[in-house]
Amino acid sequence: MHLLSKFDEVAATRRQLSQGGIDPTDVEMEQMISATEAVIRGRRTILAGTNNYLGLTFDPECIAAGQAALETEGTGTTGSRMANGNYHSHRALELELAQFYGVNDAMVFSTGYSANIGTLTALLAPGDCVMLDADAHASLYDGCRMSGADVYRFKHNDVESLDNRLRRLEDRASRTLIITEGLYSILGDHAPLAEFAEVKRRYGAFLFVDEAHSLGIYGDHGRGLAEEAGVEADVDFIVGTFSKSLGSTGGFCVSHHDVVKLFRYASRPYIFTASPCPSVIATTRVALRLLQQRPELRERLWRNARSLYEGLAGLGLTLGPDMSPVVGVRFADRDQALGVWHQLLDAGVYTNLIAPPASPDGSSLLRVSTSAAHTASQVDEIVTAFSVVLAG
Ligand code: PMP
Repeated sequence: MHLLSKFDEVAATRRQLSQGGIDPTDVEMEQMISATEAVIRGRRTILAGTNNYLGLTFDPECIAAGQAALETEGTGTTGSRMANGNYHSHRALELELAQFYGVNDAMVFSTGYSANIGTLTALLAPGDCVMLDADAHASLYDGCRMSGADVYRFKHNDVESLDNRLRRLEDRASRTLIITEGLYSILGDHAPLAEFAEVKRRYGAFLFVDEAHSLGIYGDHGRGLAEEAGVEADVDFIVGTFSKSLGSTGGFCVSHHDVVKLFRYASRPYIFTASPCPSVIATTRVALRLLQQRPELRERLWRNARSLYEGLAGLGLTLGPDMSPVVGVRFADRDQALGVWHQLLDAGVYTNLIAPPASPDGSSLLRVSTSAAHTASQVDEIVTAFSVVLAG
């Protein structure tokens, strides 16, 4: 055994995954055609495995704002906001996010991943407790671990499991942060937020919701699952990302607690990394405005989501429990899922292979996602490709 031996297993898995000529974890989009199509292995392919829920990545207004920022503010900030200075646009985006959520302040981070790490490590300390949904994203696990707080997992989306674990904490419950996501990105199921909020109130705990996949999707104003469930006042911290419905990169935290202003002094991923490029901030600001001004994007997304979910359910496939823009299609094992993934790609449809250890419950599945930018006929083509592959 030497330092590099640990990669033997990784290399073996990679060889196995590449057997069909292309590794599903390393697909190259040779050319982007639009928000919903790319050239993969020389073939025009429908993208049914993105997080481009509102389809804004090619929006002309977003692109124009990014181009203008490149010309007026340059290519990059070359440093962190704390050490090297704030650009006006970073602060403007924070104020726009705060206004959107109806709170006093917000913090912007360079990615959604660092937003979770930065918020959780600022907020939690040894002696505090976390109740973490078992299927939470890696960045939530990592942030909790790095904070030094005591971490207890509860069963995914299970109110009773959360309640039981909180009861055992007795008077430590008021030093406890309950962490959940809104929409879960693999099976497309969502948290029972109203019930979680009730439990939080009863124990005097705090509630943190990662709305990465729910921003722009749920709620009358697109603010996410907390808005949809009518519990925004009960949610203490909302974290989100710009890399999905807003079509750029970056992340944020908003809260009605004034301490959010102080997180920047305690958050290493804020202090010690470069702030987002001005062009990224510029496209994000326009996307956030469009999310609010164009509710028809959300309506189109849900129309496509319904048609995809019903179409795949009609083929007799085993799907996640909730209809949403993300559909998890379960298969018996990794080989079957991998086989279907390859055949779909050959048929011009790109999906996401999710297999252990990355899958939530050890199952093998294909993640299929829709966008407001998909046409009705593209959604039909995705369903038809599944039916042809399954019949073959
Ligand atoms: N939280 C959740 C729930 C996510 O799914 C992701 C990304 N997949 C992130 C955070 C991290 O976001 P980003 O990719 O913008 O860093």
